[in-house]
Amino acid sequence: MRLYNISMNIKHLLKDKSINPTKQRLEIAELIFVKDQHFTAAQLIEQVRDKKLPISQATVYNTLCLFESTGLLKTIDLENDCKFYDTNLYSHHHIYNTSTNVLTDISTDKIEFSKMPDIPAHLELEQTEVLIKVKNK
Ligand SMILES: [Zn+2]
Repeated sequence: MRLYNISMNIKHLLKDKSINPTKQRLEIAELIFVKDQHFTAAQLIEQVRDKKLPISQATVYNTLCLFESTGLLKTIDLENDCKFYDTNLYSHHHIYNTSTNVLTDISTDKIEFSKMPDIPAHLELEQTEVLIKVKNK
C-alpha cells in the first residue's frame, strides 16, 4: 500500500472505503499501513500492547475484519488457523518459513508457469499466486 503515506492519508483511505475513522481505527491503521508488511492478528495485538494503546483485542479483530472486507488488506491462510494479513494488494507470490513463521514476498517475475490446468469455459482466470513452504535445515 505504498500509495498511502501515514496519518492524514490514512483518514482519507478509511473515508474512501466508507469506514468511519474512529480514533482506535486510525491508531490501528497507522500501525498496519506504516510499511508493506505481513502480520498475524496476534502480532498486531502485541504491537498495540507494546505501544500501550487503549484498544481491546476484540476491536483489533473487528478492525482487521473490516479492513479485509473493504479490500484494504489481503489475507493469506496457512495451516493451523494461521492467517496472515498482507498490505501488498498487488498480485504476488510468497515464501513461508514454517520454522520461523515468517512470510516473505516473491515478485511475480520470479516464477513462471509452464503448465496450467484447463479452466472450465464459463470461468476465467482471476489470479495465480504461489505459496512456497520452507523449513530450517
Ligand atoms: Zn505478500
